[in-house]
Amino acid sequence: MWSGWRTEARLSSKIRRYPGNEVELKELNEGKYLVEHYETILRYSWTSGVAVSRFLEGLKEGELWGRKCNKCGRTLIPPRAYCEEDFVPTDEWVRVRDTGTVNTFSISYVNNDASRRKKPIIVSVIDIDGASPGMGILHLLGGIEPGKVEVGMKVEAVWKPKLQRKGAITDIRYFRPRR
Ligand SMILES: [Zn+2]
Repeated sequence: MWSGWRTEARLSSKIRRYPGNEVELKELNEGKYLVEHYETILRYSWTSGVAVSRFLEGLKEGELWGRKCNKCGRTLIPPRAYCEEDFVPTDEWVRVRDTGTVNTFSISYVNNDASRRKKPIIVSVIDIDGASPGMGILHLLGGIEPGKVEVGMKVEAVWKPKLQRKGAITDIRYFRPRR
């Protein structure tokens, strides 16, 4: 009876053993098999799309831009090329302010690699002034003690200096309580 497999469990009444032979580490180390190492080199490129590309360009200039849907009248930020309520293309660009209201927030002691932080970061969804209610961006809060943050708090963007901006959401360092 074949006994190369570790388990004695039966596969079925007709198939009583796994096909092929198990390769064991010992056999690999002994050079019983030809081993080929191959490292793939993967390169990716992608587009942000028409709406978000324009939004990112605006960030370089220290501006926030949304898209307006004339059917429902909403101004969407981050901007999208179509309205998910009406299933129609959005109509025009609208400059919104770089101020807003804390919609929700979380005090995080965890980095994005799951390691622990001693000093927390405050992650928040900020409803942007000039956009429709509930339209907001996810960003950091700063210049405030975590225990003092409240939903409904008015905040403003703290931008990086113009020469350091790259057309990324991190061109805004964080939002701080409005002065
Ligand atoms: Zn709409």
